[in-house]
Amino acid sequence: MTDPVEEACLQPMVLEPIIYEAGTCENQELEVPVFDHVTEVTENPMIGFEGGIAPLKCTNCGSKRKEPKWKKVEDPNRRQSKRLVIKNFKLPFEELPLDCKLHIFSYLDIFEKGAVCMVSTQWRSLAYHSSSWSYINLRLFSLCSHQKQHIKCPRTCQPTDAYNRYMRRLSAFYKTLSQIKPNVRTFIMTADIDETKNEPSPWLRLIIKLLESFNRIRLTYIDIDWTVSPYRPSTLDRYCCLITKVRSSVRHHEDRLKQFLSLLKYLTKRLPGLLYLTMPFHWSNISLGLLCKFRHLQKLNLKHYFSFKPLPPQFLTVLLLCLPRLTDLTLAVVNATFQTRHVYRVRHPNLQSLDITHCTGFFIRDMDLPALKNFSVKRNPWQGYLVNPNFLPCLYDVLKRGAPELHVLNKCRLYPYWKEFLYLDLDAALKHACPCVKHAT
Ligand SMILES: [Zn+2]
Ligand SMILES: [Zn+2]
Ligand SMILES: [Zn+2]
Repeated sequence: MTDPVEEACLQPMVLEPIIYEAGTCENQELEVPVFDHVTEVTENPMIGFEGGIAPLKCTNCGSKRKEPKWKKVEDPNRRQSKRLVIKNFKLPFEELPLDCKLHIFSYLDIFEKGAVCMVSTQWRSLAYHSSSWSYINLRLFSLCSHQKQHIKCPRTCQPTDAYNRYMRRLSAFYKTLSQIKPNVRTFIMTADIDETKNEPSPWLRLIIKLLESFNRIRLTYIDIDWTVSPYRPSTLDRYCCLITKVRSSVRHHEDRLKQFLSLLKYLTKRLPGLLYLTMPFHWSNISLGLLCKFRHLQKLNLKHYFSFKPLPPQFLTVLLLCLPRLTDLTLAVVNATFQTRHVYRVRHPNLQSLDITHCTGFFIRDMDLPALKNFSVKRNPWQGYLVNPNFLPCLYDVLKRGAPELHVLNKCRLYPYWKEFLYLDLDAALKHACPCVKHAT
């Protein structure tokens, strides 16, 4: 049998129980304790008076109490055992099963994990466990320690040196990750996949190497920006004249597109079950064909890549036909606005959210989106004047016909009667969105 006090002390997180004792009655000033059962109770500090044993009559004079007065006392036993409390105190975290601990660790970012490694060998092994790396965001790396603390770099911090150090840190991190073999769910990174003239690009090789080292069963969210390398100092690219600069940037652009296709090919082959995909996208027959292979996609965010590559309307139709589970679509397309042929028909049975705020020259003529709830659209300053507005239908009519379930337009909640009549606020909202004669001019 263990000592009851010790036993009580072992209960975690109950550090200072409040013990009450009966005071004196109104007739006599007596020292505590007054009642037998009260002394009984105070002997065991862990039992309060909730059990309905509050004294009602005085044992000395028999007078009734209106209200028992309680005062807080310090329990001598309790005080002694504080040492025991500290000695036997266990963090509730240690008591958790391994899965829960790993789940908690998976919320730490890269740097917090590094800090946590210094606590104990157990925590270190937890931080290095493959299951605590479900979220990997390589955009968290900063160029130098000054930037991380949001202070201005001193003169000694040369951008090229800092960049080289940053690259070394990244590659060291890659090595560690490939040893851990993480069970990744989310993978986020940014790197220009055509950074040097070497073939194939070192970044592309690194991305593929890294993805190969992962345990990819649960990898469902990918956000890769393959167009720029963060922090790359401009002094690394020196040109003798403007023509060389233009030529080399055109060549880089072509090379980058090749690398983009091989990246996309790799992703379709190795991660066919992807649910969320975010990346800049260059529209072509091949890239569209590859994108359509992600049959399970639910959220798709295609950003704009810098060239003026129009999105042919049939491309969008094919894409929406091939991705039946899509619920969220964000598009950024820049079409030349003097051509009125970029008028789109959007049809999808399950699409709930559509965002074309960053599109230019993207006009919707017809819509069949029975599940659409959230729609964001903006009339770019460019569009609306070069195009013949008579050619374009009013967005209000398009929405009324094609999106009966719409709740939110440009983050504003619609009134339930929006289909019956065009109220003032809605009309004002359409003035920033609709390309028709009435709203654009
Ligand atoms: Zn009394
Ligand atoms: Zn610095
Ligand atoms: Zn209109």
